[in-house]
Amino acid sequence: MTMNAFERLLFRLRDVVGERYVVHRPDALIVYEYDGSVDKHLPRAVVVPGTTQELALCVALCHEVGIAVVPRGSGTGLSGGAVPTEGTVQIVTSRLRSIIEVDAENRIAIVEPGVINADLSIAVESLGLYYVPDPSSQRACSIGGNVAENAGGPHCLAYGVTTNHVTGMEVALADGSMVWLGGEAREAPGYDLRGVFIGSEGTLGIATKIAVRLMPLPEMIRTMVAVFGSMDQASKSVSDIIAGGVVPAALEMMDRVTIDAVEPTYHPNYPAEAQAVLIIEVDGLRESVEDQSAAIEQLCRDNGVASYESSDDSERRAELWAARKGAIGAFGNLKPNYYLVDGVVPRTKLQEVLAKVAEIGAEMDLMIANVFHAGDGNLHPCILFDERIPGETERVLDAGGQILKLCVDAGGALSGEHGIGLEKQAYMPLVFTDDDMRSMARLGPAFATDDGFNPSKVFPVGEGSEAETGYSKTRRAGTSDVV
Ligand SMILES: Cc1cc2nc3c(=O)[nH]c(=O)nc-3n(C[C@H](O)[C@H](O)[C@H](O)COP(=O)(O)OP(=O)(O)OC[C@H]3O[C@@H](n4cnc5c(N)ncnc54)[C@H](O)[C@@H]3O)c2cc1C
Repeated sequence: MTMNAFERLLFRLRDVVGERYVVHRPDALIVYEYDGSVDKHLPRAVVVPGTTQELALCVALCHEVGIAVVPRGSGTGLSGGAVPTEGTVQIVTSRLRSIIEVDAENRIAIVEPGVINADLSIAVESLGLYYVPDPSSQRACSIGGNVAENAGGPHCLAYGVTTNHVTGMEVALADGSMVWLGGEAREAPGYDLRGVFIGSEGTLGIATKIAVRLMPLPEMIRTMVAVFGSMDQASKSVSDIIAGGVVPAALEMMDRVTIDAVEPTYHPNYPAEAQAVLIIEVDGLRESVEDQSAAIEQLCRDNGVASYESSDDSERRAELWAARKGAIGAFGNLKPNYYLVDGVVPRTKLQEVLAKVAEIGAEMDLMIANVFHAGDGNLHPCILFDERIPGETERVLDAGGQILKLCVDAGGALSGEHGIGLEKQAYMPLVFTDDDMRSMARLGPAFATDDGFNPSKVFPVGEGSEAETGYSKTRRAGTSDVV
């Protein structure tokens, strides 16, 4: 039997990474067909390189035969970014988990892309340091995935998101060459290609090493939980806190549906009248923590808080956070599936938009939970549903689209932190003109990707769009006529 071109590619990939790390049997590929979103598609094959050199070689081999690759970290993405598209090979970074170097004096670490976010902070804790961006998925997601999505997290309100904490990265390009964008210094001369790569959702190359900033652990941390009898009171408190000149390290909100979901698993014992919970954290020097927390408590009391607790004790603080950090998993207590919409609105529009989100839920008879980074105005309405009911997924996606439009109409954005991926590409025209998208799409050829990475993502695809707009030109599906 003659080997076709794809089988020859598999043979060469096995030569690089070893038989065990090239997955191509359909039953084994199922593990890689999805991420945390609702989209699914099988890759043609999956490669799990053991070194960054192996990774670059695999990229080059795929490129040589015109097969596009889809980078994958831990697969926790919520916009379908790591979901394969037709004919693609997935390259997974889960074996690249070394913390290569920690320079405590300059507060810099160099890590491989598969390093799990939380593991970095654990590794440098004894040096009095930590890595700030803390997505709620931080015990599972990779730093490479964080870079690709420009991930945020509860503690990004005061300190900034991933782009503020990554000084540079080594990237494998389509031909297998590796280049550094930025470096270990905070500022690099020339164009900020580091900034371009961060948030590029795996479309420009694969990050193989990442230089991150570490921060000193704060002298004191205080966590406060404020429970309100209405969402309006909680939303107003959020606006008042920020307007009052306090920027807490974290300012998170959960609504009644979320409270119902977390109660049986985490037993936070919120009072019966609870309709909204704020989790607020301040950190820094002792005096400033005392001042800020006193101001926050007063504002919450002015807004009629029903119960209020604060703690500086690390064990109790972890308990106060547990329900928020585990909220998305706890939705399984209410429904088997969730679809999380990641829109952003100006903070002052929180009340208005949340009320309209509730109206959409009521009109469409859908259960919607809200658990989100309130301080950033980053909404996360989670539509809870059961995908086994015929037509339910389509209804949920329709409701999600309506919520995104609401956010944009309120002066917000399509994504706060989860990216566009497959999930929101159709909504790009709500905020970008064809000219905008054509300009953005020119970055692909500038990185010489020749559509080699994560095709058919981010930009809208569909009949006629290439001819009419040009921006989907480099965003086609991943096979070439070689195979
Ligand atoms: C329960 C839960 C809570 C979450 N909370 C948050 C939150 O608070 N904040 C937040 O921002 N996100 C959150 N997320 C979303 C998700 O965890 C983040 O987007 C995270 O950054 C994805 O990392 P990953 O390793 O899982 O990436 P994947 O899902 O594997 O990939 C995500 C994207 O990155 C690309 N990619 C992966 N690795 C690389 C690489 N080395 N080089 C180039 N491209 C690469 C992929 O192609 C894809 O486009 C949450 C998800 C879940 C399930």
